[in-house]
Amino acid sequence: MLAFARLLTLSALLIMLAGCSSPPIQQRTLYVFGTLVDVRVASADSTAFTAAMREIEQRFQAMHHELHAWQPGMLVDLNKAIAEGRTLCVSPEIVHLIERSAQAEQASGERFNAAIGNLIALWGFHTDEPLTGDPPPSDAAIQALVDANPRVSDLSIDASGCVRSSNPSVALDFGGIAKGNAVDAAVAILHRHGLDDAIVNAGGDLRAVGSRDGLPWRIGVRHPKQGGALAEIEVIGDESVFTSGNYQRFNEYEGVRYAHIIDPLSGRPVVGIASATVIHKSADWADAAATALVVAGVEHWQEVAVGMQLDQVLLVDEHGQLHMTPAMQARVKRVSATP
Ligand code: AMP
Ligand code: MG
Repeated sequence: MLAFARLLTLSALLIMLAGCSSPPIQQRTLYVFGTLVDVRVASADSTAFTAAMREIEQRFQAMHHELHAWQPGMLVDLNKAIAEGRTLCVSPEIVHLIERSAQAEQASGERFNAAIGNLIALWGFHTDEPLTGDPPPSDAAIQALVDANPRVSDLSIDASGCVRSSNPSVALDFGGIAKGNAVDAAVAILHRHGLDDAIVNAGGDLRAVGSRDGLPWRIGVRHPKQGGALAEIEVIGDESVFTSGNYQRFNEYEGVRYAHIIDPLSGRPVVGIASATVIHKSADWADAAATALVVAGVEHWQEVAVGMQLDQVLLVDEHGQLHMTPAMQARVKRVSATP
């Protein structure tokens, strides 16, 4: 849930520029997972909206409790059981996230790895407090966790949702995918209430469905270093836009920034990429993919794009240079001057 906790500083701005009058927009902001989640629907049905929002809020609260990587709850219990070689039966939500994370792990060439919770904790990111500039961990401590080689694919789940691991070093941290999963869940609830024209925007990472009276939703992607928009994208139908960046959360020690996204191969924070933005149908996949692309970096991002079947990707490297797939190039309406 770490990603949730920092979203106010995150990646993209939602700008809805469709200016016509009907149907009315209903809007509510939830404060959950330490961030603001803005839900807007184009519908006059206020009864359905109120009921849907109540359900979404309850579901988010349950997720927060079940999926937190360091506050007491089911995921912390599961990680303890794994470390002790025990089997634990968990919720369908956790089973689903394990399965999606395993798919993302395989498709990304293990750049996305939700089993590296011990590494993320070692670098000091399992805290609700501001990062205080502690020195980085020792090479030996990092190497020991890398050599233990935790992967989500070390887990097996039986038909009753009971999980065991062949590797006790697996420690699940869904910070790179949980927000997308939550956005997908919210959209599913809206659909169930007959609300099919909507945007669910979690601190700038969002999924848009339908339209506003036939007009596209227009999204501004925030520049990773400057203020303002880097690009504008029109979204119509059903699409998710997620951005990850090494600027979003970091620790700073002696002038060096250590980002919260860790390369599972080296055990160290990523360098060289400022941000990665993905457009994809499902929010959880877009979320995992954006994290994986930041790990892959300028040299390997295209391998991840192929492996995860992404056709719309935008990367900003540390020099402010843009790297895009042709399909993303065709979508982007305006790009700010690069630094
Ligand atoms: P995001 O903002 O979606 O890129 O997620 C960043 C969060 O994902 C971090 O705060 C960690 O909780 C987690 N994380 C860090 N590195 C990885 C990685 N290589 N694979 C999967 N999750 C990661
Ligand atoms: Mg992510």
